[in-house]
Amino acid sequence: MLVVRNLRAGYGRIEALHGASLSVRRGEIVALVGANGAGKSTLLKAVAGLIVPWHGEILMEDRPIAGKKPPEIVAAGIGLVPEGRWLFPPMSVRDNLVLGAYLRLRRGDKEGVRQDLERVYELFPILAERKEQPAGSLSGGEQQMLAMARALMSRPKMLLLDEPSTGLAPLLVEKIFDIIVQLNAEGITFLLVEQNARAALTIASRGYVLETGRMVLQGRAQDLLDDQEVKRAYLGKD
Ligand code: ATP
Repeated sequence: MLVVRNLRAGYGRIEALHGASLSVRRGEIVALVGANGAGKSTLLKAVAGLIVPWHGEILMEDRPIAGKKPPEIVAAGIGLVPEGRWLFPPMSVRDNLVLGAYLRLRRGDKEGVRQDLERVYELFPILAERKEQPAGSLSGGEQQMLAMARALMSRPKMLLLDEPSTGLAPLLVEKIFDIIVQLNAEGITFLLVEQNARAALTIASRGYVLETGRMVLQGRAQDLLDDQEVKRAYLGKD
């Protein structure tokens, strides 16, 4: 579904990705793990159109999308849930959700947007309870749910999640990961960037390890969980 080939990208004159490649097949959860600053967010930003890659190819369902603007990439079926969530704190939960369907509203799909609001409220009942409250008043876990729900409002085929577990208590991390598994069973494909490599590889079918801008390892998630080097560098004790 998504193919990234030999991607180079960076900021100013600093190259953060030195020719990274990965692929995600329809229906998969693929984990991208690596240390702080390895370039994971840069890869997601390049796929989502937030930065323009310097070199390389990005294909979504065989169509080139590298260098395209974010709305075109959303229209191609890719949704990004960025690190830090990027919500609009003074706006209500509901209005944040409706913003996620901006492109569809512009096309006049009011009824579809209304149905999708109902669907995300079913998936995240806490958001229904808080729909009139400002997004900024939600807890960290609730804001993460809102960010995911907002991305779902564009009806993506694939979601790019950047560090969904950051700053969350273990129980909430579990909840967020359960929801990822549930959405995956409903047909959404995931590329999941995580510092919490163990949690990510546990729900993923395959994984990639990025180190200072280069893919150094890839394979079945279970094989990576069993790999001595991955254990030592990314999984800690256990
Ligand atoms: P983290 O988990 O800390 O977000 P990451 O693997 O996602 O790490 P990136 O955020 O992609 O890593 O960063 C890759 C490199 O690019 C790092 O050296 C980082 O300092 C640099 N970098 C990231 N964003 C910017 C920016 N806006 N301007 C300049 N350099 C940046």
